[in-house]
Amino acid sequence: MSPTVLFSAPDRLWPAYATALPAALARAGIAGARLTREAAPDTVDYIVYAPNDALRDFTPFTRTKAVLSLWAGVEKIAADPTLTQPLCRMVEPGLALGMRDYVVGHVMRYHLGTDRYVAGPRDTWERVVPPLARDRKVTVLGLGELGATCAAALAGLGFRVTGWSRRPKDLPGIACLAGPDALSAALGAAEILVLLLPDTSPTRSILNADRLAALPQGACLVNPGRGTLVDDDALLAALDSGHVAHATLDVFRTEPLPPGHRYWSHPRVTVTPHVAADTRPDTASDVIAENIRRGEAGEPFLHLVDRAAGY
Ligand code: NAP
Repeated sequence: MSPTVLFSAPDRLWPAYATALPAALARAGIAGARLTREAAPDTVDYIVYAPNDALRDFTPFTRTKAVLSLWAGVEKIAADPTLTQPLCRMVEPGLALGMRDYVVGHVMRYHLGTDRYVAGPRDTWERVVPPLARDRKVTVLGLGELGATCAAALAGLGFRVTGWSRRPKDLPGIACLAGPDALSAALGAAEILVLLLPDTSPTRSILNADRLAALPQGACLVNPGRGTLVDDDALLAALDSGHVAHATLDVFRTEPLPPGHRYWSHPRVTVTPHVAADTRPDTASDVIAENIRRGEAGEPFLHLVDRAAGY
C-alpha cells in the first residue's frame, strides 16, 4: 500500500500539510505513501486539492481514485466536466468549531446590542437591557455540517432556533423546516439570520428583495456561507431603509471585496475577510488520510459530493 498523493493547492498551504499529512498517513497505517507536489498525472492515486492555477484539467489523471478537497465549499469544481473522479469535500472538526465560534460571536454581538457601547457615543448613559437568549429568535439557513453545529450551539445557549434545509431533518432543540415552501416561515422567524448554504443554482441570490422583505423589521444578518447567496443590491436597499438593521458579511461574489464597494463604507455592514472558518491542517489531515485508507481498502469514501446537487 504505497499510493502517490499529489498535493495541488496554493503554495501557502504546503508547509503545514508537508508535516501534518505524512504524520496522519502514518497514523492511518498507510506505509510508504508518496506525498508530492509534482507527479506525472498517470501515476497519481489521490489528489489533495484546493483551486489553483496549476491543475485545472483532471482528464490526464487516469488512475486517480479520488480528489480530496481542502475546502468545504466545492462550487468551483463540482461542475467541472473534466473531473470524472469521485470528489470528496472537507468535513473536519476544526472547520466546524471555527464556524461555531464565528457565528455564536456575531449572533451574540447582535443579541446583546454590543455595538451600542463599542461604537456608540461615549458619554451617553442609556440602558437598553437585551432580552434573554430564550426570547430571541435565530434562523439558520443550511443545516449541514456547519449549519447544524452552529444551530446546536445557539440552541445550547437558549436561543429559539429555527433551521432550514433541503431535506427534512430532526435535530434536538431546533425547529427544523425544509424545502422551498417553508422558506418564508424560516425567514419570518429570523430576528437574526445566519446563512450557511452552499453555492448551487437553487441557492444563488436566495436572499433577494422578496426574501429580505419576509424578515422581521430590524433583523440582522450573518453570512459566512457564500457571497452568491445574497442579492447585493437588494441587501443594500434593505440596509438603507433600515429593514435590515445590520449585516456581518464574511463572503462576497468577488473576493477580496473590491476597494470602493459599498459594503466597505456602509454604516450598517461589518466586513470580515473570509475568516469565519478555516480548514485546520492537523485535523484535516486525519480526514484526508482516512479517505486514502478507505480508497486503498476499497471502502466507500467519506463526504462524497453529490455532483448533481452541487454540494
Ligand atoms: P453541507 O454539510 O453540505 O450543508 C449544506 C446545507 O445546506 C445542508 O443542510 C443542505 O440541505 C442545505 N441546502 C443545500 N441546498 C439547499 C437548498 N436548495 N434549499 C435548502 N437547503 C439547502 O455544507 P457545510 O459543510 O455545512 O458548509 C456550508 C457552506 O459553508 C459551504 O458550502 C461553504 O460555502 C461555506 N463555508 C464558508 C466558510 C467560511 O470561512 N466563510 C468556511 C467553510 C464553509 P440538506 O441537509 O437537506 O442536504
